[in-house]
Amino acid sequence: MAAKAVMTAPRENPWQAALKQFSVAADLLALKRGVREFLALPKRELATNFPVKLEDGSVRVFTGYRVHHSTVLGPTKGGIRYHPDVTLDEVRALAMWMTWKCAVAGLPYGGAKGGVVCNPKELSRVELERLTRRYATEITMLIGPESDIPAPDVGTTPQVMAWIMDTYSMHRGYSVPAVVTGKPIAIGGSAGRIEATGRGVMISAREAAKHLGMALPGARVVVQGYGNVGSIAAYLLHDQGCKIIAASDSGGGVYSEKGFDPRALLRHKEQTGSVVGFPGTDAITNDDLLELPCEILVPSALEGQITGENAPRIKTRMIVEGANGPLTPEADEILRENKVLVVPDILANIGGVVVSYFEWVQDIQSFFWSEEEINERLERIVVRSFREVLATSQEKRMDMRTGALVRAVGRVSDALVIRGIYP
Ligand code: NAD
Repeated sequence: MAAKAVMTAPRENPWQAALKQFSVAADLLALKRGVREFLALPKRELATNFPVKLEDGSVRVFTGYRVHHSTVLGPTKGGIRYHPDVTLDEVRALAMWMTWKCAVAGLPYGGAKGGVVCNPKELSRVELERLTRRYATEITMLIGPESDIPAPDVGTTPQVMAWIMDTYSMHRGYSVPAVVTGKPIAIGGSAGRIEATGRGVMISAREAAKHLGMALPGARVVVQGYGNVGSIAAYLLHDQGCKIIAASDSGGGVYSEKGFDPRALLRHKEQTGSVVGFPGTDAITNDDLLELPCEILVPSALEGQITGENAPRIKTRMIVEGANGPLTPEADEILRENKVLVVPDILANIGGVVVSYFEWVQDIQSFFWSEEEINERLERIVVRSFREVLATSQEKRMDMRTGALVRAVGRVSDALVIRGIYP
């Protein structure tokens, strides 16, 4: 039987989930009404419809968004997603989560996110470049090294970032590498950026295992979404001795009780376009994959994959959220009762934005660091953030998501109050 494709769309509205999470933290912090209202709304949103000439001579109109959630702590930072299911509510949620993520990591940034409703797999390279350059032009009034710095997300790559950097630089008349991060190293990208999010996921899982008194060697790992974040988290956890037993992408999933070599799976995906059909594994549906008995579950695809409906059947000791928003608030409650440790997205996947911050700092100074320096500094920030969030959640007897949100929302609201209201 052919493996059923993994979810094609979040099962619940991610913006509603993000607002619910925010209101829990806002209640606990007893935020004043004005502060609460201000932080619950995006600072600004841009929606744009723009034409792109396809290679067959026809013209298609695409819809794109860029949302700035908060500018309180500094310029906004957040990825750009190319996916057929992108919606304004999804981009809003992702922008809000970026604000909290930057605050958890202690970075001088607010949150943003962008997206274009498209299927990049159906576009030729030339069409993808035209779409990217036109979208970059449409959002050009928002982006810049001092105002808003995009990065890759689902469906976008270092090459897409290179086209955005080049387009923005052409408009300015000089090269501006610091306008985007996640660029190829040849044009001002940072060593370690490609691996950074997966590395942060691995470090978070390692710290969580220490906290639970669980050994990593032999621990069974299941990864949903074998893209940048999922595949790298898988092979770095494998390097720690974990056994990778299942992985999936938008085409379906693969499973082997004995475990498999995650780097060989990555090569198979690069050659065939999917994890499906990897020798020595059985096909598995996305729903079944999430419910496999394992020690570490790493959802690394899209939002809303674990809900009130399937959460009771999850059989893992910990979930480390590589993806943004893979659990709904209802799932959180059930998993808390079932004593599953959830390392939340705004902590578990900070690695990407942390090394993006390093890339931006290096571009601004035109002075580049070695991969060892990058990885050491990343390790320090992820471990420190993990310990701070854990300490808050233990002290206040709350789960790690609530602990992370309380720290993040508290930091942003304090800064907001200190800045005051203009005029
Ligand atoms: P990617 O495009 O490299 O990989 C996404 C993976 O998910 C692919 O294997 C794809 O086949 C799969 N996928 C796509 N649509 C899917 C669907 N409908 N259902 C299930 N799987 C699907 O993207 P990425 O950069 O690895 O991002 C994955 C997640 O991690 C996203 O939630 C993203 O927001 C988050 N994230 C990414 C970064 C980063 O630096 N790239 C940083 C933090 C968080």
